[in-house]
Amino acid sequence: MTGEERRAALAAIDAEVRTCTRCRLATGRTHAVPGEGSPDTEVVFVGEGPGQHEDEQGRPFVGAAGSLLTDLLRSIGWRREDVFITNVVKCRPPGNRDPEPDEMAACAPYLARQLAVLDPAVVVTLGRFSLGTFMPGARIGSAHGTTRPAVPATGAHDASAFALYHPAAAFRQASLRDTLFEDMAMLPQVLIDSRARRAARIPAGIAASAGTSPDPAVAADSSRGTEVAPVAEISPAELAAITAQSAADGSAAPDTDQMRLF
Ligand code: URA
Ligand code: SF4
Repeated sequence: MTGEERRAALAAIDAEVRTCTRCRLATGRTHAVPGEGSPDTEVVFVGEGPGQHEDEQGRPFVGAAGSLLTDLLRSIGWRREDVFITNVVKCRPPGNRDPEPDEMAACAPYLARQLAVLDPAVVVTLGRFSLGTFMPGARIGSAHGTTRPAVPATGAHDASAFALYHPAAAFRQASLRDTLFEDMAMLPQVLIDSRARRAARIPAGIAASAGTSPDPAVAADSSRGTEVAPVAEISPAELAAITAQSAADGSAAPDTDQMRLF
């Protein structure tokens, strides 16, 4: 897809979301919030759902949590407009209650289509509902600051999911603010690693299982025996060699230039 085609595809999704009535959240909203950002980005941030300010403006993360997210991006030299920012549900749950499973299921096709268009290398999950979507079964207390292959059924077909606390969590528990900045500092390297993996055409699941600390979900699959044979076809040493080669090719050199998005 060209940049122009991605732009057009995202605009079409945007228009559908703004008039969508697929779930009960349509009733209470002022504006649906499809999401916004660069159609050419490699990194998509996925939050929970719009709050009051987002509902008023029709834009994601424009309230207090949004300004913290903007600060977090700035702390690694990135700008909001370089990434894409969206949510698991596109309409505000009344009183900011948790989104319900049937509402997330009704809205999932929009997120899936956005992710299929953007094909990000990294999906950054913000908070537990986004975490549950991209890393099912993970718990935020131990998963924050870690990476796992994103579940392909989300629409992120070849992405690493990187877990962050929701920025709003820092308002309830002050110590999480430092945790958020510490975790965010890892994101440039997560992007570099995912770029290298994609350049070497190694699926996210296989790269994870070939590493020195296997992904728990993939490791658990070994009980299924030969079904997971592809995992054994690449050793950690081979993966390291391929990764180093693709870095040497210049496609993923871990220098400071590569810490930038573009
Ligand atoms: N919290 C979210 O999860 N999403 C937003 O867009 C704003 C606040
Ligand atoms: Fe449609 Fe999603 Fe809004 Fe529900 S939350 S009405 S599915 S856009």
